[in-house]
Amino acid sequence: MRTQIVAGNWKMNCNLDESQHLLNALKQKDFSKADVEVVVAPPYTNLYAAHQSLKDSSIKISSQNINENEKGAFTGEVSPDMLKSVGVEYVIIGHSERRAIYAESDELLAKKVTAALKHDLKIMFCIGEVLEQRKADKHFEVVKEQLEKGLFHIGASDMKNVVIAYEPVWAIGTGETASPEQAQEIHEHIRKVLADKYNADVAEQTSILYGGSVKPNNAKEIFAKKDVDGGLIGGASLDADSFAEIVMSF
Ligand code: PEP
Repeated sequence: MRTQIVAGNWKMNCNLDESQHLLNALKQKDFSKADVEVVVAPPYTNLYAAHQSLKDSSIKISSQNINENEKGAFTGEVSPDMLKSVGVEYVIIGHSERRAIYAESDELLAKKVTAALKHDLKIMFCIGEVLEQRKADKHFEVVKEQLEKGLFHIGASDMKNVVIAYEPVWAIGTGETASPEQAQEIHEHIRKVLADKYNADVAEQTSILYGGSVKPNNAKEIFAKKDVDGGLIGGASLDADSFAEIVMSF
């Protein structure tokens, strides 16, 4: 059975105090009834404190980005080893905001994937089409190409450390959500692309999350779809009650 995951991408929100406050509120929640791995991705500056704070909790920590190099003259960047050393388990790679605002190319993302795996970091690899591509009915080929260029240089055995997050860009932070049927249709397609590239086992075992304005009032319907294995949550992950409600939607 695939791991079901709900991950909160805090983006550039929460200073240290706010971060600790949110984590304390999350630690009060009883997630044991949901068969879900819960992950939070605070900003870099709060990762070590989050690791300390979550020591006795099952909640896992992700970074929102990673640099592809080992070390050296890369001012302002954070290496895989640095992330590992502060208790990070997952890294988000290829979020649409990094692709669009910071011009991260597929080629760069492929290097980040390699670097993360080398340091035993698990990856949440984000893919998804923009509105024009959806309107032109190109979303199936767009996600396939993103996978081919950013991820498919890795071998089948490394796929056990990869989670895919399908996030239609038109649904991120907009209040628009893909319908459960739209999510299912493209998740099924992604699974088929994985089967064609690797094998049926990899396709069956890889968790594919949906992201894009998931809220407590729509999570249940989306998560109920056969090929949706959880969610990557932005805005709603900043409120402990909303995030917990989404986790408990399973
Ligand atoms: C995201 O940024 O990954 C995301 C899904 O954001 P939101 O839930 O706010 O749409």
